[in-house]
Order: sequence, then C-alpha cells, then structure tokens
Amino acid sequence: MARLPASPDNRLLVDLDAIAANLAALRRLMPPGSRVAGVVKADAYGHGAIPVAKRLKAEGAEFLAVATLGEALELRGAGVRGPVLLLLGVWPREANLAVEHGLTPVVARLEALEALAQAGRGAGRPAQAQLKVDTGMGRLGAPPREALELLAQAAGLPGLEITGLVSHLATAGAPGSEHTQAQATAFAQLLRAARERGHRLPDSSLSGSGGVLVPPAGPDKQPIMARLGMSLYGGLPDPGSAGRAELRTAMAYTSRLLEVKQVPAGTAVSYGRTWRAPADTWLGVVPVGYANGYLRSLSNRGQMLVGGRRRPVRGRVCMNLTVLELGAEGPQARVGDPVVMLGRQGAEEISVDELAGLAGTIPYEICCALGAANPRVYVPA
Ligand SMILES: *Cc1c(COP(=O)(O)O)cnc(C)c1O
Repeated sequence: MARLPASPDNRLLVDLDAIAANLAALRRLMPPGSRVAGVVKADAYGHGAIPVAKRLKAEGAEFLAVATLGEALELRGAGVRGPVLLLLGVWPREANLAVEHGLTPVVARLEALEALAQAGRGAGRPAQAQLKVDTGMGRLGAPPREALELLAQAAGLPGLEITGLVSHLATAGAPGSEHTQAQATAFAQLLRAARERGHRLPDSSLSGSGGVLVPPAGPDKQPIMARLGMSLYGGLPDPGSAGRAELRTAMAYTSRLLEVKQVPAGTAVSYGRTWRAPADTWLGVVPVGYANGYLRSLSNRGQMLVGGRRRPVRGRVCMNLTVLELGAEGPQARVGDPVVMLGRQGAEEISVDELAGLAGTIPYEICCALGAANPRVYVPA
C-alpha cells in the first residue's frame, strides 16, 4: 500500500499494484481467451506512460495503445516492445517510422493505407494497420458502408496487412443503452461481412472500459479484444458502471497543512469572499490549488481528508492554496499534518470517481490534470 514519503512536499503517488489488480479484475469480466490493449495515451492518463506500460506488459497485457506516433516512440525508446496501436493513426509522412518501429496505426483513409503499404514495401516486411469504423461515436472513422470497400482496396496493396477493425462506443458503461446495442450489432455485422469476403481481422476491437464493465448483449463467450484505459487506473467510464468490478484508485495525492488557525464568526475566506464563517471556525490552509491540478470547480464543493476525517473546502480554490474547515478537531490540528486530496487516510477514502463527481467532471480529467501538474512517486518504487 501507499506510504506517505518523509518529505513534507505535495506527493502524487501511483500504485502500480493497484493497476495490476484492476487488470486482473477486468479480465475476470471478459470471456476466456480475451485480450487487452492497455491504453497508455496522455502519459497513461497522468500515471506515467513508461512505468505503467512496463507493468502492464509484465502483467500480460497483449497490446498497448497510445494516441500518437510520438507517444509510441517514447515507449520504444524506453525498451517497451510488442504490439502498439496508434489510436489517432499516422500522417502519410510518419508511415516509415511507424513501420520501422513495428507500430499498428488505426486509420480510416486510403491515403494513409497507401503510405503504410509503400513504407512496408520499402522495409521489406508488411506494414500493419487497423481500420477505424464509425458505428455511432460520431468522431473518427469510416462509415460502415465504406469499410468493406476500404478493406478491398487495402487487400490490393502489397506491403500492407489489416489486422483488425476498430470502433468505439459513445455511451459505453451506461447500462441498458440502446445506442451501445446498435453499435455492437453494426460492428458484428460488418465483421461478419468482411470475414465472408476473406478478411481475417483477428485483432478487432469494439470498446474501451465501458464495453467490458457493461457488455453489450451479443454472441456470448466469444473472446474479445478490449482497449482498457480508465478502469485500469481505477475510475469508471460512467457512474452507471459502478459495482461491476472491484477497482482501486491507482493515484493518491497528498499534502500537509501549511497553516492552522481559528477565525472569528463572519470571516470571509479566499477570493471573491464566497464563503463566510457562520461561527468562530478552525481553518486549515493546504498548499494545493489549480496549478497542481486540483480543479477550481472544487471551490466550496471539494473535500479533503485530515486526521482521518472529511473536511470541506471553503471558498475558492486558488492557484496554489485551498482552505479547509477543520471542525471540532481544529484545536488538535497542527501545521504539517498530512492531508489527502485523493486516496485513503485511515478508514476514509476519496476515490477518483468521487473527486470527479465533486468537481463536476469525469475521472479521466482529474487524472490527466494531476498527472500533468505533479512529479510522481511510484509504489512499489
Ligand atoms: C481512450 C480510448 C480508449 C480507452 O477508453 P477508456 O474508457 O479509458 O477505457 C479506447 N479506445 C479509444 C479509441 C480511445 O480513444
């Protein structure tokens, strides 16, 4: 478990054992023989792409997935081998590098397929790619009616191998979504039609975390490939997928009280004077604010743990400071006492889903914000 380091600084701890445990819990929800692409884009959602990728590989993740070529080259530079999906595809000028490093771009345009095929011929081994299909996300991908044509064109390009179809669910993780069901049906139909035309597409995948936590109905017990991101880090893609797997928040963010004091009734706290002490009140000041990734939307809404209890944020979150109300235990609080913004203290825990709910956002944004703003400490080291 995470231990608070001796240093009094703000600490962002990443528990790699929690990520491993989450992977195991998610695998138990998938049909036997299923495979996982561990999604480590955006610096592994703020957890650190290289250490997380290495741990996921050690835990048997069959694939990794990143957004861009640059992210993939960072992994390769750190010695991370094996299949890596490039979820944003490649520009034609990046095709040579993608092939040289054995990466698998997910593309939807003939121009990219041609550039990859040419790079594959130049390298003397086929370029691998996957075809992105938009079954109802309304974002990247070819419409299903064009996908078969693109597959036929790709099959006519020497030096190129299409290893799968990729689609993405728009309402994954929300139980009972008819839209998810429609997308799953469209994807299955397209795969069947493609296979009837002789395309094998062994590494096809429909969904991220949501489709594993709340699987669409379908031909049961068929092994799948899932691109898992948020759930590996212990957050939910949708509050509706709560309780489907035991997930542990992999990040913990801690600090210490910088100041402790009692203020008289009527004292207004922080910029804009948006909160006033209704009575004489003990306050604690924490050296954490939106510059540290503690979102300003937590003003007057967030909670932190001090002395094993939840303490409300009072007034506005500042750039580097946030004020807490310490309650009846205020007189016992001391400068330097540990504060937990995210994670456990004693019997209490603020999970990434709870913090996201308090901030009016999703756990993805919480992790990206904290990870981008803070140096990380790994457990185990
Ligand atoms: C980010 C992403 C994922 C991972 O989604 P999670 O909800 O974090 O599991 C999967 N597929 C695509 C295409 C993505 O962009």
